[in-house]
Amino acid sequence: MEPFVYEALSSRVVFGRGRISEARDELEKLGAKRALVLSTPEQEKDAQALASSLGPLAGGVFSQAAMHTPVDVTNQAMVVVSDKSIDAVVSIGGGSTIGLGKAIALRTDMPQLAIPTTYAGSEMTPIIGQTEDGVKTTQTTLKVLPETVIYDPELTYTLPSFIAGPSAMNAIAHSVEALYAQDRNPIVSMLAQASIEALATAVPNLMSDTLDSEARANAQYGAWLAGACLASVGMAIHHKICHTLGGTFDLNHGAVHCLMIPYTAAYNRDHASEAMKQTASALGVDDAPGGLYDLMLLSNKQKSLRDFGLTESDLDRAATLAVKNPYYNPRPVEKDAIRSMLQDAFEGVRPM
Ligand code: NAD
Repeated sequence: MEPFVYEALSSRVVFGRGRISEARDELEKLGAKRALVLSTPEQEKDAQALASSLGPLAGGVFSQAAMHTPVDVTNQAMVVVSDKSIDAVVSIGGGSTIGLGKAIALRTDMPQLAIPTTYAGSEMTPIIGQTEDGVKTTQTTLKVLPETVIYDPELTYTLPSFIAGPSAMNAIAHSVEALYAQDRNPIVSMLAQASIEALATAVPNLMSDTLDSEARANAQYGAWLAGACLASVGMAIHHKICHTLGGTFDLNHGAVHCLMIPYTAAYNRDHASEAMKQTASALGVDDAPGGLYDLMLLSNKQKSLRDFGLTESDLDRAATLAVKNPYYNPRPVEKDAIRSMLQDAFEGVRPM
């Protein structure tokens, strides 16, 4: 066995159907007296219901969370924090809402209770990305890691399949890259494989018209483990290219991860053979990129970069940006090879 370093991140995880009812107890364990409940405008009703269940521990609701954690939204939330003497935050929602909770914790160090309702995985990571004047900056600090997370699969029942499928594939992408990370270790690799298996089993059922509660629970379990992988080891070409495409062309976060993961896996296939074997085994297929492609076809509305409205000249720009600032990837990151991978994704062909 190769030598490795494993560092456990500390967070308390409460998992199970209906366990949102324990939010008040969990806040008390954190020593909170007046908690601010955060949500997006779309999930304000859920935030209000949660606030009611918190009784005197509820200090208010702030429902203006937005994608990519805009600093001006955090500034508005900070006014409420100060006016209402808030001493903890409860984030109910996807990565956008959890991002706002993290941004408040970054400024105040107050405890966070995160209650995720998508599969983005942000609740498990000490990473925060914030946007100001159109520029996104990311930092890693334990200050932003939520102290407690409640995973209640019932909260994901309302997630429409067109968001649930790509969100689950986004989580799979965290785990695939964890398997070939430069700083990988046996513990995180174990989590990654369990996560891919749980998510891949769930994806076909997430796309069905009838609600499958077991699939929703499996997907959330897999998303938790994928978030733990994202938190623990470095990501590579897949995340870099998705951030480049998403940021430059304003593409939907989950959908672009979902489309690209078969192609980035194919890019690395011959340079990360053990990771590919592990991924294929977790997917229950012979070929990892092929298995990911089949799941992508099943779960994404957009089946190619062309479907996102990109043009071939956009691909040239993306390839140039993706090779800027050298970073670790098992296969050297070369512009011509990246451009060719993007062409395959543009055409939506099965990755070879
Ligand atoms: P999101 O939080 O923006 O949610 C998408 C939409 O779905 C929102 O309108 C939301 O209100 C709605 N929604 C969420 N859960 C729902 C449910 N159960 N039922 C119905 N509607 C629901 O999207 P996301 O993909 O969860 O998060 C994306 C953001 O998270 C991005 O900004 C990304 O950069 C960030 N992110 C950060 C990390 C990190 O470690 N810092 C990790 C992953 C993602």
